Amino acid sequence: MAILLKQARQILTMNDGLGLIQDGSVLIENDIIKKVGRLNEQGFRGRVIDCTGCVVTPGLIDAHTHLVFAGTREDEFAMRLEGIKYETIAKKGGGILRTVAMTRSASEDELYKLAAERIKMIIRHGTTTIEIKSGYGLSLSEELKILRVINKLKDNTPLDVIPTYLVHTIPRFMKRRDYVDMQCEEILPEVARLKLAEFCDIFCDKTAFTKSESEKILKKAKELGFALKIHTDELANVGGAKLAAKLGCVSAEHLIYTTKSGINAMKKAGVIPVLLPGTSLYLQTERKPLIKDFMESGLPIAIASDFNPGTCMIYSMPKIISLASLVYRMPVELALMAATINAARAIRKEDRVGKIKHNYQADFVIWNVDDYRKIPYQFGEDLIKVVIKKGKIIYETNS
Ligand SMILES: [Zn+2]
Repeated sequence: MAILLKQARQILTMNDGLGLIQDGSVLIENDIIKKVGRLNEQGFRGRVIDCTGCVVTPGLIDAHTHLVFAGTREDEFAMRLEGIKYETIAKKGGGILRTVAMTRSASEDELYKLAAERIKMIIRHGTTTIEIKSGYGLSLSEELKILRVINKLKDNTPLDVIPTYLVHTIPRFMKRRDYVDMQCEEILPEVARLKLAEFCDIFCDKTAFTKSESEKILKKAKELGFALKIHTDELANVGGAKLAAKLGCVSAEHLIYTTKSGINAMKKAGVIPVLLPGTSLYLQTERKPLIKDFMESGLPIAIASDFNPGTCMIYSMPKIISLASLVYRMPVELALMAATINAARAIRKEDRVGKIKHNYQADFVIWNVDDYRKIPYQFGEDLIKVVIKKGKIIYETNS
């Protein structure tokens, strides 16, 4: 089936920067982009979508989510606003371990239903490719349960889903050393054997795994064929950016406390920074990533939602684009690239998605705005008219 996106006010192709085309069209054949630009549309047979006065961008890519979980933690949110620290809440049985307990008590079917409902909402907000991490199981059987749910979402929803096995935290009643050994000897080899995840990620930070524990686990994961990611330097500068460079991680995420020398190391190794402004907003962290230094390094900066029940309940990428500008002062053009082509790089899919280019996958968002700068500017508004995934309309407003 052929589709013509006709006469858009602006098309952001993401070729060499924004790659802005004024008053152009896009021709889609089946699931692939065939032509972009000022097209001769005479004699076209197929569905025409009128894009007059609209902006067309690639489908949005969310490169970092914790989408599969049970239960919510709004009481902790309220406690934090009263000034109670996250560490204190965690000591009282809150935090990640509370979501672990609730996720463990949910059945695989229940978890799938919850996650599939969330995906429906996410589609309305323009996301067409999503990375999803496990990490609320903390034992072999429970992590496998979550990974099976993620893979089921991959097979049964229209989105491209990238599954990541996350080594998140140490479970109650277990010694750190024993848990690290269990990762290397039991869990990682089984996740690899069952081919349930493309990436392995670890939370390397002040209250989580140390640098040497993280190195041990990620090295083992690399041996087993996983591509690597790392959550790091969120709560303190633990040298995680340098570790990411040393191990050849595809991406490093959060990076609030990463210093200039960490950024230089990432640049040399080509590690993609994934910044999470929604989490900074929820945690009200005064310190922000060194955006200017990241920009000067020339590294392609990605942004993502970090959607999770503890520290960021935002799954809407348009909101995250606004927050990248408002909270991190990211230029509008960069924020849009960060949610498309640069996010594609963070999940190693940049040859297929994130651009509007001949032979790329036909993933689009058509926006009800006539200037791309209105996307972050009109924060929180519902600006999306149509979402297309692999040449199929997966969301359309009634108007
Ligand atoms: Zn995260």
